[in-house]
Amino acid sequence: MKKVKFVEPAKLYKTIKNELDAAYFDVMEKGALIDQQHLKTFEVNLAQFVGTKYAIGLNSGYDALHLSLRAAGIGPGDEVIVPAHTFVASCSAIVNVGASPVLVDVGKDFNINVDLVEEAITSNTKGIMPVHLSGFMADMPRIMELAKKYKLIIIEDACQSLGSSINELGAGSWGFTGCFSFYPFKILGGYGDGGAITTNSEEVATYAKRMRYNGEDRMTGEYHGHGFTCLLDNLQAAFLDVKLKHMPEWIVRRKDIARKYQEGLSDIPELLLPHYDRPGFDHVYQNYTLRSAQGSMFSNFLIENGIEVLTQFRKPYYKHSALNLTDRGFPETEALSREVCSLPMNVEISDEDINYVISMVRKFYEK
Ligand SMILES: *Cc1c(COP(=O)(O)O)cnc(C)c1O
Repeated sequence: MKKVKFVEPAKLYKTIKNELDAAYFDVMEKGALIDQQHLKTFEVNLAQFVGTKYAIGLNSGYDALHLSLRAAGIGPGDEVIVPAHTFVASCSAIVNVGASPVLVDVGKDFNINVDLVEEAITSNTKGIMPVHLSGFMADMPRIMELAKKYKLIIIEDACQSLGSSINELGAGSWGFTGCFSFYPFKILGGYGDGGAITTNSEEVATYAKRMRYNGEDRMTGEYHGHGFTCLLDNLQAAFLDVKLKHMPEWIVRRKDIARKYQEGLSDIPELLLPHYDRPGFDHVYQNYTLRSAQGSMFSNFLIENGIEVLTQFRKPYYKHSALNLTDRGFPETEALSREVCSLPMNVEISDEDINYVISMVRKFYEK
C-alpha cells in the first residue's frame, strides 16, 4: 500500500544537505556552542523577517510565552484571555506565572472569536493571548482596538504562523511580543526544540536576554533577577538560519499545495476547507486543517489507506481534568474538535502524493 507521511524531515534534509552540513561543520570547527555568532546572526535575520526591532532566541515556544508574560508583569490576580482551541502550552504559560486563563471560543477560522472577547474582559484582565493557528492570523486589527480601549497587553502566540501577515504586517509584530516555536515540525523547524520572542521594545529584549541566561547580564556578570536556563542553542540557530533563508520559496510551495487541495476537494459539501475570504490576511499553511462532518470515520479511512493525518485536538485541553480548568461550554471548539483533520502539508511532499491524498478523500465520499 502507498504511504504518505505527514512530514519527512530526512527527505527535506537531502534538499538542503550541503547548506546544513556546512553550518554544522562551521559550528563544530569553531567550537561555538553557547551564545555565539550564529545565534546573533539568526536573531537579526529573524527580526527582519518578522518585521520587529528585536528577536531573542529561546529554548522553546513555551519559554517565549512564559517570558513574555513575566516581562509584562502578569502574575497572581491577573486574568489573561486565551482561545479554547489551541495547543495547551498557550494556557499553561498563563497558569505557570500564577495568572488565571479566561478561555474564549473560536470562530470558523479556528482562531479566537473576537466578538466574544469583549464580554470576557473584567477589571482583572491584564492581557489577551491571541493564537494564530495553522498559519492564519487571528483578527489583529480588532484585537489591537480592544487592547487600546481596555489598556491590555497583547502577547501573540505566533508559534504556528511565522511568515503570515495581515496587510503586510507580520505575525509576531503586532503585540507587546510575538512568540515563535522552532519545534521540528513547525513551519520553521530546528533539529530539536527552539523558540523566540520578537518585540520592538528594547526593554523587553534586554529582559528576555537576561532571563534566558539565569538573569545574568553577560557583559557585567550582574544578576538582574531569578531567571531560567532557556537559551536557543547556537547549533540550532545555525541550522535555523539556513532554513529561514528558504522560507519565502517554501511558503510559495505550501500555498501551491493548498491550492491543489482546494481544486481537488472544494466540491465536496461535507468538507469545510481552510480557505477564507479575508482581504489582507495571508495564509501560509503551516497546517492544512479541514473539517469533515464524518469526523473520525473520515480520518480513520485516510489512516487505513496509508495517509498520515493529524487530528488536533479530538479532546480539547480544558477537558483534561488534571488541568483544573472550567469548561464554560465552547460550542465551536466542541464541534471542530470532532471534525478536524489536517492533511499532509510540507515542502518535501511530491505532487503525486498530494494527488493520492485527494483521490483517497474523494474515494471516501464516493462510498
Ligand atoms: C508548538 C506550539 C506552542 C509551543 O511551542 P514549543 O516550542 O513546543 O514549546 C505553543 N503554542 C502553539 C499554538 C503551538 O503550536
